[in-house]
Amino acid sequence: MSQLSPVTDVLEVVEDEPREARAAPAQTWKVLVVDDDAEVHEATRFALAGRTILGRKLELLFANTAAEAKAALDAHAGVAVVLLDVVMEEHDTGLKLARWIRDNGYRNVRIVLRTGQPGYAPELEVINEYDINDYRSKAELTRTRLITTMTAALRAYEQIETIDLSRRGLEMIVTSCSQLFKRRELATFSQGVLLQMCSLFRLPGEGMICAGTRDSQADEVRVLSGIGTVSELSGRTLDELDDEAEAKSAVLRALRDDRAISEGASLVTFDGAEDDRFVTYMEGGSTLTAIDEALLKVFAANISVGFQNVGLIARLDRLAYFDEELSIANRNRLNAEIAARIGSNRPPARVAFVSVASYEQTLEAFGQETALGLLKAVVRRLEEAPGAPTLFRYGEAILALILEEGDEAEEALRALGTEQFDADGQALRAKFAIGVAPIAPFRAPSFVCHEAYAALSRALNEDLPWVDFEAELIHEARARLELTSALRQSVDGGEIASHFQPIVDLDSELCLGAEALARWSWNEAPVGPDIFIPVAEQTGLAFPIMTLMLGAAARLRALVAARHTDFYVSINLSATDLERPDLVAEVEAMLAEHALPARLVQFELTESCLVRNLAKAQNQLGSLKELGCRIAIDDFGIGYSSLAYLDQLPVDTLKLDGRFVASLGSGGRSQAVISSALELGQRLGIDVLAEGVETARQHRLLKELGCRRAQGYYYAKPMPSTDFVIWLDSNLGGAL
Ligand code: C2E
Ligand code: CA
Ligand code: CA
Repeated sequence: MSQLSPVTDVLEVVEDEPREARAAPAQTWKVLVVDDDAEVHEATRFALAGRTILGRKLELLFANTAAEAKAALDAHAGVAVVLLDVVMEEHDTGLKLARWIRDNGYRNVRIVLRTGQPGYAPELEVINEYDINDYRSKAELTRTRLITTMTAALRAYEQIETIDLSRRGLEMIVTSCSQLFKRRELATFSQGVLLQMCSLFRLPGEGMICAGTRDSQADEVRVLSGIGTVSELSGRTLDELDDEAEAKSAVLRALRDDRAISEGASLVTFDGAEDDRFVTYMEGGSTLTAIDEALLKVFAANISVGFQNVGLIARLDRLAYFDEELSIANRNRLNAEIAARIGSNRPPARVAFVSVASYEQTLEAFGQETALGLLKAVVRRLEEAPGAPTLFRYGEAILALILEEGDEAEEALRALGTEQFDADGQALRAKFAIGVAPIAPFRAPSFVCHEAYAALSRALNEDLPWVDFEAELIHEARARLELTSALRQSVDGGEIASHFQPIVDLDSELCLGAEALARWSWNEAPVGPDIFIPVAEQTGLAFPIMTLMLGAAARLRALVAARHTDFYVSINLSATDLERPDLVAEVEAMLAEHALPARLVQFELTESCLVRNLAKAQNQLGSLKELGCRIAIDDFGIGYSSLAYLDQLPVDTLKLDGRFVASLGSGGRSQAVISSALELGQRLGIDVLAEGVETARQHRLLKELGCRRAQGYYYAKPMPSTDFVIWLDSNLGGAL
């Protein structure tokens, strides 16, 4: 063993790889001489020691037995040739060792078999199987012959190593690229590129990666990440480096240069998406082997694709997580943000959904630009709030933000309703509804949003500025859903009943017509229209209900037509009915189907629904009017103080809301309101009808004030059509 030279460098060997693979580029050729004859060792040393073959000196290692040979191979990485005696302890010790060498992963080392007895030539299969380079008898191997044989073996080894190294290098590049490509953010991707370059090309770990374009100036070139002493430059620009710094000029030079690689591995340029270019500047990269250089090119090409992908992903991310219209994060980002908070131990927080409740109205009244301008102004106001909260867009006019304990943004939220906004040049105030839910642990983000939305729904439905989530809201929402599906079933089955309430003339005490009112029972219990009509309006059921009422009204009118030729029916329309583009054609078809003359049909619309959709209302009501129908304004006097809209709509009747009649005679302003409504009606040529007349006194007072029409329990409650016909015959029907 004493002949063996000491182990100088121990290299880590990765399992599964040929054991030579990680050897540093060798400066010498290691040749292991295995023979049990000391003389042969001596002769070989004499023949080869100190020689240079193919540009490298030979380094001889000696082993006397198979065991020593194995130990030597394990101890010395990168043995190039084994000169192996076939017959040692046994006649086939050499062949067994050759098998061991191959079986133990030494694939590249060349084996030259030597034998003292020429008769022992191994079979051809053995030569192939153990990848034996040469077979010589010792007598044959003269000094010159030995050198020729060694040269041939070393050349073969060098070629195998070269191919192997580049294959291995390519494999590493492929693996490192596919690992890198999992990184979707530029920062982590580029950090990975630096680290991979260091390990692939054995660089000392000092360098940086920069992003710019061909014509970037130093202050426009960003250092994406750095390793070693420059790591603190990450995120800064190149102009923060000293002017005389070699890195600075080198990176700028590489950005403008067409070559992907210059100065060895020191400067490598990658082309990203569009004009983007990325440059790595590495210390100690100027000494590269030819293989490394070839590999670096492959690496650069692959990484360029990576940069392009990262750019693309960033853009896709932006699309997936960003609302371009308001320039804030979107609902997906909100979900991700909530998920991140649920999964971490950040301080407890809540999600606030902020609905710009007057958005629709703004849209109707001023159009798209102003409505969007309003949203943008609200976003700006909130972004400027203390703590600069992050805003998300949850719906068309619903913003979301995350509130932490004691967050000052809450103040700003509560103040929104009192503020004025510059909406695309228009100074506007807006109405807001806010729903808030906690980000509780063990909750899916969709749950949290669901709860915030339930709170917001209540705020919107009940006209409240701020609602905190309570569990019962979900129950309410669920009950509402059940109610909706039951209602849909009833509507589809035509099971919405109709009641009729007489409309009377106060002077003649004659019945002029009837208002149709929808009635619905669920599980045999009546549900008030105040409950189911809003649900119907939100679920597209209002129109089918209106259709049912119109049909029933037509049948009632047919029953009384012979005796009362001018008897008219009054049908309630919803705001959602006005949204139907074909409403007028649909009504016309229904009238024809039921043989109901248009002049005997009145449509009632509430003040609030008209004002909200003034332009649409004007159009639709104008066309209904042209058909010959009459138009009444329902619940008049409770909504809007401005009566300007009356001028712009073809109105026949004002139905004064019942609460004016209810407080009639009890002092207060009711009498004044009724009087002025009557006066207004007279001036505009519009009939005024008093709703909710319950007592003889109210009836008398109204008559005295000059009111000519009324409805109310004093005359009759709403009743089914059969009862209505009987009532008509025995009461107020004197004229029939
Ligand atoms: P409305 O159109 O103002 O209907 C008048 C309401 O006042 C009816 O309540 C009627 O029963 C009630 N009423 C009539 N006389 C008196 C009275 O002397 N005293 C009192 N306290 N109340 C009286 P109802 O039937 O519960 O309807 C409530 C609302 O539901 C209606 O108010 C209307 O806005 C809506 N509605 C009812 N049916 C329909 C329909 O078919 N379509 C639409 N879109 N809405 C409907
Ligand atoms: Ca009505
Ligand atoms: Ca009414």
